Parts: sequence; C-alpha cells; structure tokens
Amino acid sequence: MAAKEVRTRFAPSPTGYMHIGNLRTALYTYLIAKHEGGKFILRIEDTDQERFVEGAVDIIYKTLAFTGLVHDEGPDIGGPVGPYVQSERRGLYLDYAKKLVEKGEAYYCFCSKERLDILKVNSEALKRPFKYDKHCMHLSKEEVQEKLSQGIPYVIRQNNPTTGTTTFDDVIYGKISVDNSELDDMILIKSDGYPTYNFANVVDDHLMGITHVVRGNEYLSSAPKYNRLYEAFGWDVPVYVHCPPIMKDIHSKLSKRNGDASFEDLVNKGYLKDAIVNYITLLGWNPEGENEIFNLEELVKIFDYKTINKSPAIFDPVKLRWMNGEYIRRMSPEEFHTLALPYYKDTITKATLDLIKISELLHTRVEVMNEIPEMVDFFNELPDYDIEIYTHKKMKTNTENSLVSLTKSLPILEALGQWDVNSIHDSMMQLAKDMEVKNGIVLWPLRTALSGKKFTPGGAFEIADIIGKAESIERIKVGIEKLKAALA
Ligand code: GLU
Repeated sequence: MAAKEVRTRFAPSPTGYMHIGNLRTALYTYLIAKHEGGKFILRIEDTDQERFVEGAVDIIYKTLAFTGLVHDEGPDIGGPVGPYVQSERRGLYLDYAKKLVEKGEAYYCFCSKERLDILKVNSEALKRPFKYDKHCMHLSKEEVQEKLSQGIPYVIRQNNPTTGTTTFDDVIYGKISVDNSELDDMILIKSDGYPTYNFANVVDDHLMGITHVVRGNEYLSSAPKYNRLYEAFGWDVPVYVHCPPIMKDIHSKLSKRNGDASFEDLVNKGYLKDAIVNYITLLGWNPEGENEIFNLEELVKIFDYKTINKSPAIFDPVKLRWMNGEYIRRMSPEEFHTLALPYYKDTITKATLDLIKISELLHTRVEVMNEIPEMVDFFNELPDYDIEIYTHKKMKTNTENSLVSLTKSLPILEALGQWDVNSIHDSMMQLAKDMEVKNGIVLWPLRTALSGKKFTPGGAFEIADIIGKAESIERIKVGIEKLKAALA
C-alpha cells in the first residue's frame, strides 16, 4: 500500500505580526511536509473574533511568500478541503459537536456567567485550577430541549471522565499520561456559536487530512483532551510535534509583547530573510556536522523533525548577527552593492565619493545592513571628534607622537602625484621606515585624522583613496590643528 501523503498545516491566528516562534512553527511545518514530498497547508484560525486584528492576514501571506514558505492550499489559492478560514467554516462545527452530544461525549451547558464566576472564585480560594463542575451534564434531554426552545444562551462542553488516565504520544516529548481528573470539560462551541480553538483545530485537522500537527508546547497540556475528541469521533490521531519554546534567557520566553523583535522588526533592522530563516531553523534543531549555513532547499533535504530538541532554545542575537554577516559575505560584490545602495542614500550626498569602492570595503565587514549609515557617514563629512582617539595603547600612539607623524605625513601626501591605495600605502610605509617607528605610529594617527573615528571599515589607505587627495589633506590639517591645540 502506498504510504499516506504527508499533510501539515500552519494555522496562525491573525494577531498582527509574525512572532519568531510562529515563524519557526511555520518553518518546521513546511520542512516536514516538503521533506516527505507532501503538502503544506495554510489555515487561518480566526474563531476568536475579539483577538482579530485588521490587516493581520496580509502579514501572514506576505511573510510566507517572502520567506519562501509557499503553501499548497490556503484561503488565497483554495484547495480540495476548503474553506481554509475558520470563520468561513463556522456552520460545520455545531453539527460535529451535536454528534458528540449524541454519543454522551459532550453536553449543553446553560450556566450563567454569575454561576461560573462563583466557581472560579471558589477554585481560586482553594488554589486549584478552574474546572467546570458538570452541573449541566445532569440535565435530561427534555430539560435541554426546553431551555433551547426558550432561547437561553448555551455552550457545548466536552464530557471528560473523572477517573482513569489518558495517554498520548508526542514526537518530541514522548508518551505522556495524565489523570482524567485533571481534564476540564472544556468548551467546544461558544455562546456566540463559534467553535473554540480547542474544538475547531481537531475537526479541521481531521477534515483537512492533516497527518502531522506542529505547534508550540503551550498546547501540550490540552493534547489529551484533543485525543479524547479524536477517539470519540473514531478518527485517526495525527502525529503530534509540540515544539519547545524559544527563550530570551533562561527565565523568560521571547515575546513581542515584552518588546522582543518580531520577524518584521528583524527585517527592518537590516537582517536578511534567508539568514533569519536559517537561524530560526537552528533554534531547537541541529544539523549533523559542523556546517550551519543552509538555504531553504537544503533544509528541506536534511531536516528531521524527530531530532528536534526537547529543551527550550535560547535566542542568541550575537549568533544571528554572525549568521547574517556570513550571508552577506557569501553574496557577490554586485549583489552586495545593490543591497547596500539604499543605505547610502541619506548619508552619502557628495557626488565625488565612489560608492562601489565603499561597498567593496564594507562587504566583508557589515553584519547587519542598517548599521551601514553610521559606518560610512565619515566619508561624507569629517565628524567632530575628541583627540583622545589618537591615543591607542597597543599601537603605542599618543597625542605627541600622533602630531609628529601627521606633520611628517602631510608634505609627503601633498607631494604625491598618483593618488591611489598603492601609492599612498608605499609612501606611508617608507615614512615609517625613515622614522624608524612601527607602521602603527604612522597609520593610526593618519586613519584617525582621515575619519575622525575610532573604528572604520578599511584602513588609512582605502579611506584616503575614497575621500580623495584634497579632502585627505584638509582632514590631516584639521588633525594637526586639534593636536597642536591640545598640546599648547
Ligand atoms: N491558532 C493557533 C495559534 O496561533 C495555532 C495552534 C495550532 O497550530 O494548532 O497559536
């Protein structure tokens, strides 16, 4: 018999942004399906109308398209088991809930808010998790009919046993057993007629033929209740892949609400989407071997969900930076230049500056694109700087010897006929030799005078070449004046 086609779904609730954890779920979901040559489905879970955010669905479409997680079925492209938006499927859930009522696996509940509030206060006082007390389960069929015909608002609840245990399997967490006494009679259909997430996800995953359910481990504690629903219907339970959380540090989860970056934020900060996707895949899963740089296609080949780590992953911004830098370095010079151009726009306004040369300098040094303006601003204009930066312990430079070096460099550079990196280099090396000092004694003050900065992409020769002879001479003179003033 042919193996069943693998079908996975990414089922976001449209809450307004793409959280890093959500994107990782989407990625793993995609990789599992594609690794097996299966289908990746997008389903929008909007049954919680209060949480609905205008425009949020667009962000989901855009992010999936942008990152290359192309879905095979979904609200925008249709498919054989649509509609793919839960609010459009609203009519079908009630019938399934009624089937459970007939089987005794669910019941109508007419409890008022006041009564439920009292139950909640009671459980709080007893420091117990809230559990509905099955009050309405004891209503007779006639009593239920009577209340329904009176139009009393109701919900439908799952009827869970109070003794025994329920066991389920998760690929990452293994076999988990819970005492049924812990299972709350959760609501399946709300008083507004909408299903809860808890009910809709089971019905939809079944109707959509989902074979692997990938989601955050915050759903792990509800999984036994979902299992009971599958069993009550006589449906196959999908393979569960509950992913451990992504943490900011050992104490707290990464969360947009606490100000941590979303996917959009990272993109806006100048991280490349391919680097983000690569990095996020490795949050909780490690490839074999040393290499950590993989594009999506390669990830599809090597990803194995069975080896996702059980322990929470820590989001490491330093590693993401490094990885982003790796992606930048692997670009061709032309690709990098095209990508860098918009970042020069507001900072480099002097038409004489050769942007291609600046890109050549930056290419191996930039780790995050939006740091470019502050790395290149000095090319355009010498910043006002503190003479402290002439002093460098390792280079053995100070205000005095910097002044000597600059004063000697100035006439040599003024006299230079050919102005390019090599000529500037040779003339300054010769000077260091003649002065019988280490190169740094000449080069550190020169680079400092030319840039007005402690750190620059490239050294003195490249900077002098890019800003040109006249500007270089001008800046060296400014440096000499500053040093003289300090020593006076
Ligand atoms: N709509 C749920 C969420 O956004 C998805 C959970 C699931 O994948 O089952 O958290």
